[in-house]
Amino acid sequence: MQFQIQAKVGKARACSFTLAHGNVVTPIFMPVGTQGVIKGLNSLDVKHVLQTNLILANTYHLYLRPGIETLKKAGGIHNFANFHGNYLTDSGGFQAFSLGENVKHEDCGIAFKSHIDGSKHFFTPEKVLDIEYAINSDIMMILDDLTGLPATKERLLDSVKRTTKWAKQSISYHNMQKEKYDIKNKIFAIMQGGTDYDMRKRSASELIELAFDGYAIGGLAVGESSQEMYECLDYACDFLPDLKPRYLMGVGTPENLLEGIDRGIDMFDCVMPTRNARNAAIFTNHGKINIKKTCYKNDFTPLDSQCNCLTCTNYTRAYLHHLFRANEITYHSLASIHNLYFYITLLKDSRQAILDQTWQQFKKQKLDDLAQIN
Ligand SMILES: [Zn+2]
Repeated sequence: MQFQIQAKVGKARACSFTLAHGNVVTPIFMPVGTQGVIKGLNSLDVKHVLQTNLILANTYHLYLRPGIETLKKAGGIHNFANFHGNYLTDSGGFQAFSLGENVKHEDCGIAFKSHIDGSKHFFTPEKVLDIEYAINSDIMMILDDLTGLPATKERLLDSVKRTTKWAKQSISYHNMQKEKYDIKNKIFAIMQGGTDYDMRKRSASELIELAFDGYAIGGLAVGESSQEMYECLDYACDFLPDLKPRYLMGVGTPENLLEGIDRGIDMFDCVMPTRNARNAAIFTNHGKINIKKTCYKNDFTPLDSQCNCLTCTNYTRAYLHHLFRANEITYHSLASIHNLYFYITLLKDSRQAILDQTWQQFKKQKLDDLAQIN
């Protein structure tokens, strides 16, 4: 994979790399489209309004519904959803974690019961890749063993060992498929080890040996404090190779993203912008506001006067407040567009600041601004 570091300030980096559906520049925020759609948006919104070309879909959910036969017949997720940018698919490790008691981790894979109809399924590293080939995801995350925090040293060690074992199976299966077919899908491994220095170091070195296209830091934002996460990122990024993308999974607030970039992270995803939007929480350049509050009933200014998104350039806080109170579907769409645009723009601006060598000043100013309303 062609990967280039275009600028650096401290550990913060502006990079670019090429995927099957176009070039990606970082730092980047990837909107989450679990079911093959970003909740409240259609694919044209993603292309023309959000103007981004890398989004997430979820292997576990798409496998259960619509199923891989339908995805194969559609010619992959790009045709099925009519979005021809890049997709990254999560491997199912996080779903296994979040399904809790419906899941059993075994050394050869993860057994789970469908949350839809209770049917039984078993994911092996190879099976996960087969599903991801059917989806035709541009970045395939491999199966990992994720544990919540706090965790015992024994459980962390188990998770690291199992994740390495599954990584070995995944890369050897993928290399075999590459020999047989003209496969352009990239494959990323997921580092585990909780907030334990030695475990993270071990997990990273074992995975790096296997030469994946990129590396994710998994197992964070699962119960630890932001400070603990930052301390972990301080060393975890140093364990990863310079010339490969680094992806921090499932994180987080705008502040978390800025701190992550500062420690060398290139890629982020989180459901927070869309989930918060649905619950009336709107991100602005001056902190988070709750659009449900009565003070916005007659506020005829945009959600964020510094934002150029479709929502802010066409509608007022008063109108969004009204739509929320009236429980109108259009509220979800307009609020999600704004929150996602806010996240995507924050990272595009961060990239520009790194390229301009003004990152430190930019970060400080943004953190000060974001703290205003909180
Ligand atoms: Zn906006």
